[in-house]
Amino acid sequence: MMDSETAMEVTARLPLAEYAARIKRAQAGLQAQNVDYLLLAPSSDLRYLTGLDARVSERLNLFVVPREGKPAFYAPALEAMEPAALAQDGLFNLIVWQEDEDATALFARAALRRETDSGNQQTPISLAVGEQMWAGFLLRLQQQLPHAIWYPALPITGPLRLIKTAAEIAALAEIGAAADEVFARLITIQFSGRKELEIADVINHMLRDRGHQNVKFAIVASGPNGASPHHTAGERVIQAGDFVVLDFGGPGFHGYGSDISRTVFVAGAAEGFEPTPEQIKVYTTVFEAQELAFEAVRPGVTAQELDRVARDHIAAAGYGPAFLHRLGHGIGLDGHEPPYLVQGNVQEISAGMAFSDEPGIYLAGHFGVRIEDIVVCEASGGRRLNNAARELIRVK
Ligand code: ZN
Ligand code: ZN
Repeated sequence: MMDSETAMEVTARLPLAEYAARIKRAQAGLQAQNVDYLLLAPSSDLRYLTGLDARVSERLNLFVVPREGKPAFYAPALEAMEPAALAQDGLFNLIVWQEDEDATALFARAALRRETDSGNQQTPISLAVGEQMWAGFLLRLQQQLPHAIWYPALPITGPLRLIKTAAEIAALAEIGAAADEVFARLITIQFSGRKELEIADVINHMLRDRGHQNVKFAIVASGPNGASPHHTAGERVIQAGDFVVLDFGGPGFHGYGSDISRTVFVAGAAEGFEPTPEQIKVYTTVFEAQELAFEAVRPGVTAQELDRVARDHIAAAGYGPAFLHRLGHGIGLDGHEPPYLVQGNVQEISAGMAFSDEPGIYLAGHFGVRIEDIVVCEASGGRRLNNAARELIRVK
């Protein structure tokens, strides 16, 4: 079943020019906020600016973007090979530090020297620090630069990542299509008589076979377990007559993630079972809510309006309290990131934002239904990055 030789080719890294352009935009942010340096430890922000999936450990990989000029990457000697290739391509200067050295001290010395050289010792150095730098590293930096002023990096990196570039949307579309393929293959296997965990294993293998670097989640929630939106696949044996909520995804080698949900009906091997009228009503309601929210996507609509469109439809069918979660979340280098489609979020959706459209109805003790696609907002409206069948599928 795993014909690897036909597996799709998936991009490993975006073009270098894409990262160079992002660094330029980060520098524009530093200039706008009047901050001297952006400091990042391994994180999605670092990956956003360099493509590097650097290791988080007691050995600090430190990326420093100055307001002007070439960035510097401080890499421990044993992890310097990947950044060295990027340095050779001119993306940044590489400073390799040895086991008896300290990246924070090396950077602090360089920053102080630069101040002295420029004759600008009156204004203190200002630094914007990424969310995901360990406190221990920040404390060391603060000790070494006692007169500096410290800011969060989020106001600089957040807006960059919120609006996806064409290359990012292409990466999301590519990994989304891979997840669609997995669903198309998955519905050909037998569900009835097998444990949820076995199906989750199959999903894991299929995702890796179809261009995923790793699998972040593979929810298989059968029968009454479907009423728990984040159910962990377990020992339950799937029965004919069950609805099964499937929700799976993970990042491709470029770091951009997939996230798709479908709910299937288990007809059984003899195909003798038919969904009950209530199963059909709930499925149809979620299907329509998902479609209505999708049709409402356009630049200028607020995040909470999209949630409201789906929620009103589900409430009108009598299932309002059973829609237990927000409509969706942004997606990019993180599986969940802004914008969050939730009541109270008045953020306006703009062209280039990518997010999930995933309404659900969860009936405790009975079953659940969720349908989820990744959608990107374009100038003319929404475009789905998942196109796997959305109508009710019967599996064996
Ligand atoms: Zn999902
Ligand atoms: Zn999701």
